[in-house]
Amino acid sequence: MEEMGGQVSSLDGVHVVIVGGGFGGIAAAQQLKSRQISFTLIDMRDAFHHNVAALRAAVKPGFAQRTFIPYAETFGDSFLQGRVERVDTERQTVVLQGGREIVYSHLILCTGTDGAFPGKFNTVASYQTAVQTYKDFVKQLQAAASVLVVGGGSTGVEMAAEIKTEYPDKKVVLVHSRIGLCDPELLPSVRQEAKEVLLGKGVELLLGQKVSNLSQLQLNVTQKNMVVTTERGDKLTTDLIICCTGGKVNAAAYASSFSGCLAADGALKVNDHLQVDGFSNVFAVGDCADIKEPKLAYHAGLHAAVAVNNISNSVRGKELTSYHTGNVSMLLAMGHDDGVGQFNGLKLPRFVVALGKSRDLLLWKSWREMQQRQP
Ligand SMILES: Cc1cc2nc3c(=O)[nH]c(=O)nc-3n(C[C@H](O)[C@H](O)[C@H](O)COP(=O)(O)OP(=O)(O)OC[C@H]3O[C@@H](n4cnc5c(N)ncnc54)[C@H](O)[C@@H]3O)c2cc1C
Repeated sequence: MEEMGGQVSSLDGVHVVIVGGGFGGIAAAQQLKSRQISFTLIDMRDAFHHNVAALRAAVKPGFAQRTFIPYAETFGDSFLQGRVERVDTERQTVVLQGGREIVYSHLILCTGTDGAFPGKFNTVASYQTAVQTYKDFVKQLQAAASVLVVGGGSTGVEMAAEIKTEYPDKKVVLVHSRIGLCDPELLPSVRQEAKEVLLGKGVELLLGQKVSNLSQLQLNVTQKNMVVTTERGDKLTTDLIICCTGGKVNAAAYASSFSGCLAADGALKVNDHLQVDGFSNVFAVGDCADIKEPKLAYHAGLHAAVAVNNISNSVRGKELTSYHTGNVSMLLAMGHDDGVGQFNGLKLPRFVVALGKSRDLLLWKSWREMQQRQP
C-alpha cells in the first residue's frame, strides 16, 4: 500500500517525507508547515525529546515532562509514528517496520545519534513511559551517596555539574580517558574553565584513566559500594554509575539504500546544498549529515532551513542555497546556576551562559517552535 498524506501542497506534486523528529526534523516540519508544503514527519516515538535538557530531567524531580513534546498536537495527520527500516530510492518510498510505505517527492533524513541514557532516550516508548523512566532515574540518584560519571566529553561534564549542583552533599567523581575535558573543538580556555567550575563545585576528577570493568557493572541503578577498577589498577567504590560516552549515528533507516554515500561513522555524505551524494531530492540534516563541525542541535536547525529552502528553490527552478559552517558556538550548562561556552569562536562570560542557557536549557525555544504551552 502506498500513501502520500492527505494534505494539499502549495507546490504541485511535492510531498516531503522527514525521517526523524529530533531538532532537525521538527525544524524542517515547522518550516514546511508554514510554507504550506505537504509533508509527513515520521518518528518511532510519539513525542519530540529535547535531549539538551535530558540531564536536568535526570536530576531534578518534576522536570522530565517539560523535555518531551507530543508531535501529533503540532503536526496532526502530518505526523506518523513508526520505525523506518529502509528507503526505496527507485520507487521514492520510505518503508516502515510492518511494511507500510510512504511515497515522497523529496526526502529529508534526520535520524540523529543514539547514545547512553540519560543523555539520550532512544527507546520506543509512549510519552508517559518516557517521562516515568526519568522520574525513576531521579529516585535512583537520590538513593545514591556517591556517583561515578564515566566520560568527560561535554555530556559527562554537564552531567557531573548537574548532579553536584542539585545534590551538593553527594560525592561525584568524573572519570575521563583523556586529560582535556569537553569537546576538542572548544577553545582551550573554555575547556579549562569547565574544569575549574567542576572543581569549584566539588566534583572529583580522574583524568587520563579508563574504567576497566565497566561491562561487568550495572549502569543507572543504585547499589551500595560497587567496586570500579581503572586500567591503571586503581580501585574506587561508588553507589551509582552513569555512562556518558560517545554517541553513534542512527543509520539503520537508510544504511542499506545509501551504502555508497556513508562516511565511516554511518553519517551521510552531502554536498554544500545538503543533498546526499548522487541524489538531488534527498537531503541529510543534523547529526546524521557528514559535515565537519560539532554535532549540535543548533546546527541541525540551521541545516533544516537550508534543506527546506532548497526543496522549495529546486521546485521553483531557483538557485540552491549553500550551508557553510561558521566558527564554533557551544554552550555548556554547568548546573542551573553556571555555564561556560563560546559564541562564534569567542569565549563568553559565565553569567551570560548561565542566563542564556543553563537556567532553562532553551526549552522555551522548542515549545515555541512546536506551538504548544509548557506544562
Ligand atoms: C546530553 C546532551 C546535551 C546536549 N546539549 C546540546 C546543546 O546544549 N546544544 C546543542 O546545540 N546541542 C546539544 N546536544 C547535541 C544535540 O542533542 C544533537 O546534535 C541533536 O539532537 C541532533 O539533532 P537531530 O535532529 O540530528 O537528531 P536527534 O535529536 O538525535 O533526533 C533523531 C530522531 O530520529 C528518530 N529516529 C532515528 N531513527 C529512526 C528510524 N529508523 N525511524 C524513525 N525515527 C527514527 C529518533 O527517535 C529521534 O527522535 C546535546 C546532546 C546530548 C546527548
